[in-house]
Amino acid sequence: MAKNSKVIVVGLDGGTLDLMEPWMDAGKLPTFAKIREQGICGKLRSTTPYYSAPAWVSMVTGCNPGKHGIYDFFHTDTFSKKLVNSRYRKTSAIWNHLTDAGNKSIIVNVPGTYPPESINGIMITGLLTPSSESEFTYPKSIKNDLVKDKIGEYELEQVAVDDIPKNLTAKYAPEKFADQVKNAIISHATVTINLMEKHEWDFTMVVLRSTDDAMHLLWGKEELILSCYQTADDYINRMMERYPEAIFIIVSDHGFGKPQKYLYVNNLLYNTGYLKTISDPNYNLSSLMTMLFDKMSRLIFHLVPLHKLVRSSIGRKFILSSGSSRNIDFSQTRAFYHSVCSRGIRINLKDKYKQGIVDKKDYEKLRMELTTLLKNLKDPETGRTLIKNIYRWEELYGENAVNDPLDIIFDLEEEYGAQELLQPPEGLNHILCSKKKSLSILSPPGFYDWMGDHRPNGILFMYGKNIKSNQHIDANVIDIVPTILATMNIPIQNNIDGRVIEEAFITKPTIKKIDTHKKKKILTETEIKRIKKLKI
Ligand SMILES: [Zn+2]
Repeated sequence: MAKNSKVIVVGLDGGTLDLMEPWMDAGKLPTFAKIREQGICGKLRSTTPYYSAPAWVSMVTGCNPGKHGIYDFFHTDTFSKKLVNSRYRKTSAIWNHLTDAGNKSIIVNVPGTYPPESINGIMITGLLTPSSESEFTYPKSIKNDLVKDKIGEYELEQVAVDDIPKNLTAKYAPEKFADQVKNAIISHATVTINLMEKHEWDFTMVVLRSTDDAMHLLWGKEELILSCYQTADDYINRMMERYPEAIFIIVSDHGFGKPQKYLYVNNLLYNTGYLKTISDPNYNLSSLMTMLFDKMSRLIFHLVPLHKLVRSSIGRKFILSSGSSRNIDFSQTRAFYHSVCSRGIRINLKDKYKQGIVDKKDYEKLRMELTTLLKNLKDPETGRTLIKNIYRWEELYGENAVNDPLDIIFDLEEEYGAQELLQPPEGLNHILCSKKKSLSILSPPGFYDWMGDHRPNGILFMYGKNIKSNQHIDANVIDIVPTILATMNIPIQNNIDGRVIEEAFITKPTIKKIDTHKKKKILTETEIKRIKKLKI
C-alpha cells in the first residue's frame, strides 16, 4: 500500500444507520450510498456514557474515558457546572502523535479541543469553547481569517448556553431551526475545505456537530433531519471529488433514537430521601418560573432576542449556574445525579467536599443501596426494568481512572432517556391538578426534554485506496486513532486501548507499536498561565 496516505476524518455528530440505511436505499444520500457500496459501512460503538464529551475524546485519543479523564461536559469533581477543557485531558490526541511524527494536521470543530494546542498545523476549536472572544484558533492569526472573504465565517457553538433559543426555535419555527443547522454544517465544512486548499496537510478532521441538535430537537420531523444529513452528504462529496487519493473515515460519536419516557433521576433521589432540597421542588420559585416559562414560551420566542441575551456575560453566568443543583441542600444530601449527560450519580463524601456528609465507611453500603434502587426500577405501565447496566466506577474505568469519575454509572434501556431537572415534569398541571407530595420520576418527553436522544451505536464509513468494497464492519470509537496511525504508517503507542480495524483494508497495514512516551505537558507554561487568566 502507498505510504503516507492523506487521511480525512469527517465526524457527523449522532449519525445513526437507523435513519441513514433507508435514506441510502431510497437514493436520498448518494455519497453515503456510494461509500457503502465501494467501501466500508458499519456501526461504531460509543463510550459509556454515550455522550459527546467522552466519546469524541475517546475518538481522538484511542483511549477509554478512565485513561483520558473526560466523562462529561462538566467536571465530575465539583458540584458547580464547570466546563471541561483540553487541558483536563490526560492522554495525547491524534494531532499530538502526528506532530511528533512530523505530519501536518487541520483540526476543525472537534468538541473538547479548547483551548487549542500548539500543533504542527491548524486547530479551530469546537463545542466547549467559552465564547467568540476566546482565543480559539491555533495559530492565533487564523482567527482573523474567519470572515466571509477569506476562509469563511465560523459558527461557534456554546454548550448549555444556546440550549433555550435552540429549543424554542425548533419548537415554534422548525424549518428555521433546520436552516440554522444546515448553515452551521456549511460553515464548518467550508472553513475546512478552504483551509485544506490554502495550507499543507497530511491529516484533516472536521466534526459536523449540528446534526446532533437536529436529532435532539426535530425527531419526528424526519424530512427536516434528512435535509441536514443531505447537506453533510453534499460536502463530503465535494471533498471526495477534490481529494480522490485520500482515505476517508466518516464517524459518529453515538447513535440516536426516540425515548418513550424520561427518568428524572434527581426526582427519584428526592422521593427516596437521598437528596434534600432548600425549598420544596413541588412549589418553589424556580419550578414555578420554569413552569411559567413553558406556558409563555411561544410569546417569549417571538418577542425576546434570546440568542443575544443568553450569550451576554450575565446570561451565560445565569445559565451555567442554574439547573437542578441550585435547589439541592448539599449539607443534607447523600447522593445526586450529576448532569443530564453524565448517566452517573455522585455520593457526597465527607472527606471530599466541604458540605459532604457521607462517611467513608458508609460509602460501599450506600453505593449498594443506590444500585439496588436503580436495578429495581420498573416502568409501571409495562412492568419493564429501566436500567440496562449499572457499574461501579472502577469496574467500568479501572482502579487507575483519572479525574475522579462518578461513583455509579448506568445505561438505560434504549427507549428511556435521563433528565437531571429536579421539578415536576408535568409543569403547571402538577400544581393545579395534583395533590401529590412526591415528584413523578417517569414522564413522556415534555417541554423540558429532548424529542430524540442518544443510542450507543454510531456510524463508521471508510473509503479510498486499499479500503475493501461493500463490506459491513463494526468497530469502536477507540479504534479510529490506531487505524489512522497504521494507515499513515506511524507507530502506535502501546497505551492506546483501541485496535487497528485491519479487516477494512485489502492489504493489511503494517502495525508498529512503540512504548508510550512519558506524558508530555500538552501545553506550555505560558499557555497554562494564559488560560488561567481567561474568564470561563
Ligand atoms: Zn446530543
